[in-house]
Amino acid sequence: MSILIDGKALAVKMRGELKERVAAYRAERGKDIGLAVVLVGEDPASQVYVRNKIKACEEVGIRSYSYKLPENTSEEQLSSLIEELVAAENVHGILVQLPLPKHLNERKILRLIPPSKDVDGFCAENIGNLAMNRETIVSCTPYGVMKMLEEYKIDPKGKRAVVLGRSNIVGKPMAMLLLNADATVTVCHSKTHDLKEICAQADILVVAIGRAKFVGADMVKEGAVVIDVGMDRDENGKLCGDVDFAAVKDKASYITPVPGGVGPMTITMLLYNTVLAASRS
Ligand code: NAP
Repeated sequence: MSILIDGKALAVKMRGELKERVAAYRAERGKDIGLAVVLVGEDPASQVYVRNKIKACEEVGIRSYSYKLPENTSEEQLSSLIEELVAAENVHGILVQLPLPKHLNERKILRLIPPSKDVDGFCAENIGNLAMNRETIVSCTPYGVMKMLEEYKIDPKGKRAVVLGRSNIVGKPMAMLLLNADATVTVCHSKTHDLKEICAQADILVVAIGRAKFVGADMVKEGAVVIDVGMDRDENGKLCGDVDFAAVKDKASYITPVPGGVGPMTITMLLYNTVLAASRS
């Protein structure tokens, strides 16, 4: 039986620590840490994410500035709001909830956010700094995974790590973080040959593909650490991960559940990045 990596418990612990850091910042500088959250349109999932982010800010004492813009907002209108937020001294982090409505150029909008306020860690400069193992702001989900490994004293150094998935927000930064932590890293994707064999060699397997229960016991090495980033629905509409938890749990040494694993860490790392951005400002 493997050890469960409890993301929920770690998130609670980290939020407690962040609350203290936020209070210390206020005491020292006489002002609040601020996060601006921009939502354009009516996407129901985005509305839930934004609500959760604002609630999390309140929990640790970060002041959130919420901007809900109508679906038909023009690029000029959105750009001028972002420019205002870039100039605002009380705003230390800017988050534009993605996806944006189709008529808006996502890349162009995100480019307006300077690296110092890019608390999602999505911009080219922050990703470039991560690739060069320099000071940066790291994408929340993979950063949360690193914090989970650290908490459970799992040192990637010298280990064979396999990252399944190569998205810009999860897979690629995850691979860079593991490489920066001295793991030997292989990145797999939908065109990878011999996927099962490669995954089955991993000491640390991180899965982020968005395919419900895709990774079975035959893809996992005995004693591997298995991190499941996936947030999917099974055949009954129940939330599940990319890993077949029931099949893998007895083979892995450590495993993250879904829900209660990586998920709670993502918003926590957004708060963490906002505090970091404020303290560097
Ligand atoms: P994404 O942008 O859709 O990328 C998926 C990646 O998986 C791509 O690189 C794709 O390969 C690869 N892939 C898809 N099917 C595959 C297959 N059958 N075999 C091998 N590789 C395959 O997804 P994402 O944004 O990284 O998210 C991945 C999952 O993590 C989703 O379930 C998402 O909901 C979840 N997620 C969770 C959190 C959290 O907080 N827990 C945060 C972000 C994302 P190609 O590049 O070749 O197409």
